[in-house]
Amino acid sequence: MPAHPSGVLHAGPSPVWLPEPDDVNELMPSLWSKHTVKKDGVLTVCGHSVQDVAHTFGSPVFVFDVDDFQTRARDFAESFDREFAANGMTARGYYAGKAFLCTAVARWATEAGLGVDTCTLGEMLTARAAGVDPGRVGLHGNNKSDAELEMAVSWGIGRIVVDSLDEIPRVERIAERCGVTAPVMVRVTVGVEAHTHDFIATAHEDQKFGLSLASGQALEACKKVLKSPHLDLVGLHSHIGSQIFDAEGFILAATRVIRLRATLQRDFGAPVAEVDLGGGFGIRYTSQDTPSSFADMARKLARAVVRACEDEDTDLPNVSFEPGRAIVGPAAFTLYEVGTIKPVHTENGVRTYVSIDGGMSDNARTALYDADYSCTLANRRSDAEPIVVRVVGKHCESGDIVVRDEYLPSDVSAGDLIAVPDTGAYCKPLASNYNLVPRPGVLAVEEGRDPYWIVQPETYSDLFATDPGFDPALLEGDV
Ligand SMILES: *Cc1c(COP(=O)(O)O)cnc(C)c1O
Repeated sequence: MPAHPSGVLHAGPSPVWLPEPDDVNELMPSLWSKHTVKKDGVLTVCGHSVQDVAHTFGSPVFVFDVDDFQTRARDFAESFDREFAANGMTARGYYAGKAFLCTAVARWATEAGLGVDTCTLGEMLTARAAGVDPGRVGLHGNNKSDAELEMAVSWGIGRIVVDSLDEIPRVERIAERCGVTAPVMVRVTVGVEAHTHDFIATAHEDQKFGLSLASGQALEACKKVLKSPHLDLVGLHSHIGSQIFDAEGFILAATRVIRLRATLQRDFGAPVAEVDLGGGFGIRYTSQDTPSSFADMARKLARAVVRACEDEDTDLPNVSFEPGRAIVGPAAFTLYEVGTIKPVHTENGVRTYVSIDGGMSDNARTALYDADYSCTLANRRSDAEPIVVRVVGKHCESGDIVVRDEYLPSDVSAGDLIAVPDTGAYCKPLASNYNLVPRPGVLAVEEGRDPYWIVQPETYSDLFATDPGFDPALLEGDV
């Protein structure tokens, strides 16, 4: 194996997709939130330098650009509204709270014109605490508890998405007991599994969600709901995957769901008002990723729904969507401090491992999904030549990788700050206390205002509160 041209110490297997940057100090703006820039080499968001942030709030910390989130949420709501209206339909977005939810985020999402999609009691309680109108809340889940269904029904949420035949009589009994008619959607498994540029179209899907279209279960579920005086079939639902860049998978799913809707209308005289096409809109984590704009996606999907309805000779539905990642992912970056630097000799040369003060406990996606992230040296400029590094966490696990491959200046050293963009979605919600580390907080930043927590960092008291054998007196003093 030949050594890297810049010498064996700077070698290390770099992936084909990762080009060496012209200037390793520069940000690639499309990877960063709206108000994140570099000033004299220092990463700054809404006028707050990361050095000030780290000094005042510590690290690791999720740094959340509030205006970026709000702008993206509004852009989604307005783009889908506009493109569907142009085709004679209404389109509604429900922010998928599982991507990241706290009361502030629920409030901002609704202020931007989105509803809130939940899948547990905890997520519903958060939306409720944020003052979200229950009519704009949905509940998903393949195994909802009685407590969850009771809260959904008694609070009066706008849509309970049923996910199994078993669930239908359970919702029915609860609705009857509460003396209401519960609004129900049926989650249809359409046999489309989509990811980035590919999708797989099959008749059957071997996974836990939804009711299969091909086996007739979806139709059976709809008939059960229609028969019940305590249930109202308000819609059909499909969610085909995540981190999707192209419209084709959604279009095929829409076509299949609209065919079922037309069957219900034609053969059972049952008009179904709404079709929900789920979430899964992709974002740019690295230069490999090429997501569509909301406007482009909305235009293609609106036209496809019109075409499908023409083919089925049926009227146009109201359409809804559940974007999570695409709204919140790019809004935050994670700030870490560098500790150990270790050159490791590999078959392809030396790989430099840069260890930071967090890891898989605050970002499980690299370990869990083989996800790629990017990062930058955040506290200073450097004229040192770029080398490919691997950014790893502090946990007792060799899979504890945050950024698999990235160029950083070769003089990166202990005490430097590193920022990893696009960690707003599925990082904080998947965070764990692995190795008994407290989970980091989420710090909101806005122009002209001091940063403030929207989720506070856990303390050691929080961490040990659940261990009855832990003497809290140990934490007095400077721990
Ligand atoms: C996860 C999920 C979403 C959101 O997915 P994103 O990839 O974050 O947009 C929407 N709807 C359902 C049913 C989901 O399970």
